[in-house]
Amino acid sequence: MLQQVNGHGSGSAAHGGESLREDLQEFLGGEAPLQQLDDLTKVNPVTLETVLRCLQARYMADTFYTNAGCTLVAMNPFKPVPQLYSPELMQEYHAASQPQTLKPHIFTVGEQTYRNVKSLMEPVNQSIVVSGESGAGKTWTSRCLMKFYAVVAASPTSWESHKVAQRIEQRILNSNPVMEAFGNACTLRNNNSSRFGKFIQLQLNGAQQMTGAAVQTYLLEKTRVACQAPSERNFHIFYQIYKGAHAEERVRWCLPEGATFSWLPHPERTLEEDCFEVTREAMLHLGIDAPTQNNIFQALAGLLHLGNTQFADSGNEAQPCPLVDDAQCSVGTSALLLGLLEDHLLETLRIRTIQAGRGRQVFRKPCSQAECDTRRDCLAKLVYARLFDWLVSVINSSICAAPDSWTTFIGLLDVYGFESFPNNSLEQLCINYANEKLQQHFVAHYLRAQQEEYAVEGLEWSFVSYQDNQPCLDLIEGSPVSICSLINEECRLNRPSSAAQLQTRIESALTGRPRLGRDRLSPEPNFIVLHYAGPVRYRTAGLVEKNKDPVPPELTRLLQQSQDPLLKVLFPADPEEKSQEEPSGQNRAPVLTVVSKFKASLEQLLQVLHGTTPHYIRCIKPNSQAQAQIFHREEVLSQLEACGLVETIHISAAGFPIRVSHRNFVERYELLRRLRPATTLGRHGPCPDGGRSERPPCTEPATLRGLLQEILHALPAPLHCGRTKVFMTDSTLELLECARAQVLEQCARHIQRGWRRHRCRTQARRRRAAVLIQAAVRSWLARKHVRRLHAAATVIKRAWREWRIRMAFLASEELDGVEEKHSSQAPCSPSSSPLPLAQTRLQGAITRLWPLGLALANAAVGVHGFQRKLVVFACLQLPVGSPRSCAIQTAQEQAGVLSIRALPQGSIRFHCRKSPLRYADTCPGPSPDSVTGFNQILLERHRPGHV
Ligand code: ADP
Ligand code: MG
Repeated sequence: MLQQVNGHGSGSAAHGGESLREDLQEFLGGEAPLQQLDDLTKVNPVTLETVLRCLQARYMADTFYTNAGCTLVAMNPFKPVPQLYSPELMQEYHAASQPQTLKPHIFTVGEQTYRNVKSLMEPVNQSIVVSGESGAGKTWTSRCLMKFYAVVAASPTSWESHKVAQRIEQRILNSNPVMEAFGNACTLRNNNSSRFGKFIQLQLNGAQQMTGAAVQTYLLEKTRVACQAPSERNFHIFYQIYKGAHAEERVRWCLPEGATFSWLPHPERTLEEDCFEVTREAMLHLGIDAPTQNNIFQALAGLLHLGNTQFADSGNEAQPCPLVDDAQCSVGTSALLLGLLEDHLLETLRIRTIQAGRGRQVFRKPCSQAECDTRRDCLAKLVYARLFDWLVSVINSSICAAPDSWTTFIGLLDVYGFESFPNNSLEQLCINYANEKLQQHFVAHYLRAQQEEYAVEGLEWSFVSYQDNQPCLDLIEGSPVSICSLINEECRLNRPSSAAQLQTRIESALTGRPRLGRDRLSPEPNFIVLHYAGPVRYRTAGLVEKNKDPVPPELTRLLQQSQDPLLKVLFPADPEEKSQEEPSGQNRAPVLTVVSKFKASLEQLLQVLHGTTPHYIRCIKPNSQAQAQIFHREEVLSQLEACGLVETIHISAAGFPIRVSHRNFVERYELLRRLRPATTLGRHGPCPDGGRSERPPCTEPATLRGLLQEILHALPAPLHCGRTKVFMTDSTLELLECARAQVLEQCARHIQRGWRRHRCRTQARRRRAAVLIQAAVRSWLARKHVRRLHAAATVIKRAWREWRIRMAFLASEELDGVEEKHSSQAPCSPSSSPLPLAQTRLQGAITRLWPLGLALANAAVGVHGFQRKLVVFACLQLPVGSPRSCAIQTAQEQAGVLSIRALPQGSIRFHCRKSPLRYADTCPGPSPDSVTGFNQILLERHRPGHV
């Protein structure tokens, strides 16, 4: 079966599982390797494991963008890839007839939104939600998209409008360095982390040319001005002025080289973001002139000096806290740079004024050391937050088009992702709340897209269940009671609130809520919210205070009295504001808490999003070391969870995560028809889903459709057959694979059986053939041997005849006396001379039998020993009366043959001469020992004493 997430096998089983998975992967994913899969929904099956593998394969192949249904996943390359963002590529995507057919890219999303606006189909307005954790590349992506729109949304014809559009685009692009300088900081996760959320509205006129833009910011992390986490830095702008100021400016802002500031940690670290000139240039383009700029930087320098104002414990509640040694100087410098009176500043930081009673009498109370620190930090945060908002308003006024000059817009939301730290407070609650809201929006949108696909395929939607995050949202923001309402209530009651008390209130008021929990092991009061991306533990300590974000009215009054032109603008003496910040008696205005303000702006944002066609870009950081070509699966997985992609995958899996085209399905499961008894064939209807899905139209070859239906009816598992695809769940796929394995096993057994039979038969045939060949060869060899013997005998016979005739002739010549005359004719014609009977018979016998005798005597095989002698005697017709008196030796290696001539008188006497057949060279002469065979018989006869 398929291995699911984190399913680790071991040994060969794991290996086998791996190979099966690869096999299935190949089938389900088609032939394409993982890195070539442009869409994660094409990964089959849609599981975390396969999604991760696909993303990893693509990242390692330098492919950084992947579609995930209606979402684009953007992996941070952590290295410059200039060709990926070149103007030529922008033009290519812009000019493409179907940009979706090109490789996934942020330009595809950009172009799609642009075309949607052009098409004027409702909803005309578009929005792109760029999310991801810090350092994942949200700001980079937003910046690239802005550059893209700057290129494509410019008029190619009208020079005048082209110039206007260019000016606007330049301003929009220039707003980036300014906002990043004031709103971004170096954190543990990202050197250029945006500490605020922003929604940029790119405004287009009727001809889809960019005429203006508007920026809305959310939740600036202003606490960073006065408090930086270890190894993190303050906002970039402080380092820019500290490092980039000219000598004369240094004097003016009291920033001597080497000066140390407690709110400026790690100034030694040099980042590319520390470029003061770029910020100044951009500010100038946005219409912030040099004096205003100097004023801003002077105020920021004043805040740095304010940070060096350290208080000591007075030891007496009635006495204001004294300053530490050199803090007096810092207070003086700070007051000077902020246009304040030093004493007034010091008094405001150290003395609290309380108005009470009917006569609104003013009481003055010295603050404790901690209170003094808090008031100092609050002053800095107040100034910085106002400055940031003012900058945003300046940017907006510089880039915003007149309301009647634009009709449509494309919104870019660069929003922080889901956050979970060991200690989470109000900031994380707001961020995660925003993410829950956006996730709900996304899920609704995604489900709609999925529903559409099912509808196209003719499937019903109702069976898809998914995890709705509405209960979690109800817990956070619902009415009448929710976490937000309880925290706000604590602020409104204006009573001293303890962390434990808040925890108890939350627990008792929201008891039974499914998404609420508590970490009972933690010594600190806390509550846990089970967000869609995972549980997060929030500390209740400080929650109410942060929510109140109290600004002592003395501080505002102090700043309103500043002589600094910038601070005068930032803190105008507004009577309305005054009444808000100085609530008193029964006419107290409703307290605007951080949560309520955030909720209101979030509602507003979502309203905007609801009125647009949303597009999603999920930025993923492949590793936390910001290294190229390194992919940490666990880190990526947690981000996929946080950005909701896992939820998307789950939704996908809740329906039918596995979708296989009819052809592929038939190819793989055709053999399952064997499972079905032949008799049942053709009895079932076309689709096994109880008629829930429609019959596939006759768009495919009849054979394919017929096969498909046969297979579907042979299966025990329920399948949903769409118009072009077969939809199934993981468990169905598992069943199919089991059945397929079973059939394959049967087939394998058949093949094995057939093979063994074939092998046995072949072996038997071979054995028979070998025996036949052996027999044939042997008989051939035997025949050949006999033929040779026969040929040899013929040769011997012939030679012997010739020799005998010659010998007879010679013998007749040698015969003495009377006989010589007769015999002299004998060689010429032996038969013509009338020889005596005995002589004639002997000669005949010799003539007839000697070759045989000689052959027998020399034969290597045949008769042996005494038999041989007898045979020789018989052949020679020798008397055998006393065989013992005759010694006959025969051997093939006889030294030679002597000539034998019989005496005519009939006595058994032989005249021997050297035979012409003897081996003259090898044997020197007949010795009694070396002479064997017939010659030996002759020798025996000649031996003295022999008869
Ligand atoms: P975020 O806004 O999500 O916190 P940033 O957009 O600031 O993250 O990106 C962090 C860093 O990652 C950038 O400073 C840049 O160095 C790198 N980066 C992000 N996206 C890309 C990209 N597409 N190509 C090259 N570098 C990138
Ligand atoms: Mg950013």
